Amino acid sequence: MRGDNDQMASFWMPFTDNRSYKAHPRQLVSASGMHYRSSDGQAILDGTSGLWCSNAGHCRPEITEAIAKTAATLDFAPTFQLGHPLPFELAQRLAALMPEGLDRIFFTNSGSESVDTALKIAIAVQRARGQGTRTRLIGRERGYHGTGFGGISVGGIVTNRRTFGGGLPGADHMRHTHDIARNAFSRGFPQHGAELADDLQRLVDLHGADTIAAVIVEPMAGSTGVLVPPVGYLQRLREICDRHGIILIFDEVITAFGRVGGATAAGQWGVTPDIITMAKGLTNAAVPMGAVAVRRELHDAMIDSVPGGIELFHGYTYSGHPLASAAGLATLDLYARDGLFERAADLSAYWEDAAHSLKGRRHIIDIRTIGLVAGIELDPRPGAPTARAMELFRACFDNGLLVRATGDIIALSPPLIAEKAHIDEMFGKLGDLLDGIA
Ligand code: PLP
Repeated sequence: MRGDNDQMASFWMPFTDNRSYKAHPRQLVSASGMHYRSSDGQAILDGTSGLWCSNAGHCRPEITEAIAKTAATLDFAPTFQLGHPLPFELAQRLAALMPEGLDRIFFTNSGSESVDTALKIAIAVQRARGQGTRTRLIGRERGYHGTGFGGISVGGIVTNRRTFGGGLPGADHMRHTHDIARNAFSRGFPQHGAELADDLQRLVDLHGADTIAAVIVEPMAGSTGVLVPPVGYLQRLREICDRHGIILIFDEVITAFGRVGGATAAGQWGVTPDIITMAKGLTNAAVPMGAVAVRRELHDAMIDSVPGGIELFHGYTYSGHPLASAAGLATLDLYARDGLFERAADLSAYWEDAAHSLKGRRHIIDIRTIGLVAGIELDPRPGAPTARAMELFRACFDNGLLVRATGDIIALSPPLIAEKAHIDEMFGKLGDLLDGIA
């Protein structure tokens, strides 16, 4: 068998070109604060919070000590028909960070599980309300909602869908909001595109509102390359959902926990969905955990729908795992103690100026920013889409900077503890390295 004796062979890496990675591995061996360290001893400035998730910076002792202490006290306890205090405490703390009314929390282990949980809850709630014909789920082109069958069915990234069959029956998609022709080099919400929310009305007209359970969108689409919602777009989606009894889900796996300057994008931007999915920053990624915040009336509709017994036949062995719950509590403490969400909000103007200072540099066709997020779109190399961004990603890594390449877009989203000098280093290096890319 190929590579049998190779130590690198057995791990089938996710979302990776395994052949080329294993020929030229880039390994990280430790992390602290704003930096990783690679296996050859180089410090790597983390421009992406790992994978949009280590929002408080790496290896924070407050979190690692809470995990270690819990591992030695209560390594595992079931949460099916039994409990332990930590997830109750975490759920209460989390509910207090959510927009008004979304105070019932279901725990999962990842963003993908949060999404599939939210979609199932939406369908189950509609049924509990006597709306059992509402089973259709609506997503958006270019949306990323993880890799479960529910998530890829409402997701809109073609490479993640086409290999895996037809997906959930009845799933449909609104158009995406990306429009460089009208919105290039936007700072914050782009001016044009609120009317694209009317695509939901088009789907209501096509399918009938009484077949649609829920709509799911990322308030800011991260994985597809930082698509910031146009001014008024999310408000318009909310209005159309209200008009037609459709449950609105915000997938905040990336945006939650300070990324756009508040606990959630919903809270920060003043549009309240019915369900919010989270993961990543919830535990600072130190232990995998996801969560779904549900509007209380939706939760109560489920409870009231049964005379007694289990109201939702759904959950995971590790829902509310002690180590994850302990990491979550320590992380929320840290966010509050160090005012990290406010810090992100305060830094965002500096961040925006630094990102947009690259305008006019080689290959760049768009720069978009919001909170502590930036997307830098490159002109695709003729005949070789994505190659340019991938080369830049590699050059950055070799020069001590971690960025994220997605399509021909470079995404940046540093830990919320970043200093101005780190921001200068990120955009300075990026600009200089771009000059060397063909
Ligand atoms: N939803 C969104 C918006 C995401 O960005 C991601 C991951 O990046 C997911 C869901 C999936 O999360 P996970 O990889 O933890 O399953």
